[in-house]
Amino acid sequence: MIEAASALTSLAAEGAAARRRVGDLVSPLFYQFALGPTRPRRREAFATLVGTERWPLERKRGLQERLLRELLSHAAKSSPWYRERLPETPDLARFGLDDLRRLPVLEKSDLQGHLDEITGTGRFANGVGENNSSGSTGTPVRVYQSQEYFDSHWAETALGYLMCGPFRPGMPLAFFWGSQIYSSEHRGLRGTLHDILVNILWFDAFSLRRDRMPATIRKLRAYRPSLIVGYVSILTEVARALELPLDGLIGIETTAETLTPQERSVIEDAFGAPVFNRYGTNEVGTIAHECEAHDGLHMMMENNIVEVVDADGRPLTTPGAEGQVLITNLHNFATPLIRYRLGDVARLGTDGCPCGRGSARLETVIGRTSDVIVSPAGILLHGLFFLKLFYGAPVLRFRVDQETPNRLRVRVVPGARYSDDVRQAITSQILAHGDPRFELLWEVVDEIPRSASGKFRVTVNHVGRAAVMPTDPVRPERSDDH
Ligand SMILES: [Zn+2]
Repeated sequence: MIEAASALTSLAAEGAAARRRVGDLVSPLFYQFALGPTRPRRREAFATLVGTERWPLERKRGLQERLLRELLSHAAKSSPWYRERLPETPDLARFGLDDLRRLPVLEKSDLQGHLDEITGTGRFANGVGENNSSGSTGTPVRVYQSQEYFDSHWAETALGYLMCGPFRPGMPLAFFWGSQIYSSEHRGLRGTLHDILVNILWFDAFSLRRDRMPATIRKLRAYRPSLIVGYVSILTEVARALELPLDGLIGIETTAETLTPQERSVIEDAFGAPVFNRYGTNEVGTIAHECEAHDGLHMMMENNIVEVVDADGRPLTTPGAEGQVLITNLHNFATPLIRYRLGDVARLGTDGCPCGRGSARLETVIGRTSDVIVSPAGILLHGLFFLKLFYGAPVLRFRVDQETPNRLRVRVVPGARYSDDVRQAITSQILAHGDPRFELLWEVVDEIPRSASGKFRVTVNHVGRAAVMPTDPVRPERSDDH
């Protein structure tokens, strides 16, 4: 049995090495010759981003102002929600970035209760898709996204990889990710062929197991990725099982959670490459991305207007000031998100970066944390696993606490259509895709309080926290990083 398992493991590693060889041959050709003709608008959006990347701050603000006016006049025409809340059209033509503060904040509860009014006729345009998200605050929301949004999102994602060093499209990329519960897009012949074409190797972040980590690492090592992309807590787990750094690795892009200085050190030391942090969400794409100066995150100003505001919604301007993040996405004409409160807290950075990019910076993003739940069988369940289970469910907010190795307490603030069937459906998914040995205690509550630090947390592990936090001595790093 053990021999069979070890033979399978080495076969998987050989498979990964072969995939890398084929991917190296076909993927650059795919990006050079296939993507342009088939997806001209993606290529155009990418070229635009590369062209504006080094623009000075004021020029970028001018671009934002032009895009904002287009978005506002579209919203005034197509969305009943915004028609009531936006000023008259002649004023919109003169609308400046500083006028944005006069508009009301869009809350997640508005999206939960009034999606159709906010979206209006925008959802009927060609290429509109639906997306679910809850950031990391446990508040599930649904939005529609336009084709223009998808193209700009593709472009900003590619630019993010380029910010991680000498990475070029077509170079091998490994993901520790879970875009769906089953990662089915990356399975079967179709999934494998697609992944080879774009030269990626996909590790399903929702089914990693501690006892199979050595096999995962052998496969990763055989593939020799140039870049690794993944959730902070999952990469920390992989890092702790790595005995030697990886050959040929340029960088690691972390996302979805606050990156502590300790986690950064653990990941960089283990993988042997620098970490580049990305801040983004499903609703609005990339908000900010770290550069090679590793001193805060550059806002992706071409795609989103980022405001950091005080308790009354007034924008803060002083570097170091800390407040709630409001986002206005400049390319989503399906569900316009204007001054949309994400539920994250960020600290403003200073202008002027040694890297030469002119965009404004966030010093750090605070308040995006989730613990990894370690199942009785050793399966590592990231907070996003639970977020995805709750997508589309009539639940306003939820939190999962692991109280003992076997016991999970699930607290929900119910929506109007919440029922016992909803509870049973989610329970059976947790048992089927998490671990059948879990015992689940459900609790319907009116409110889920923030933790002592003021953060909303989706998952809290009361038993295995020490297992995911570094316990080895780590080299000191500046404490204001994330
Ligand atoms: Zn920079």
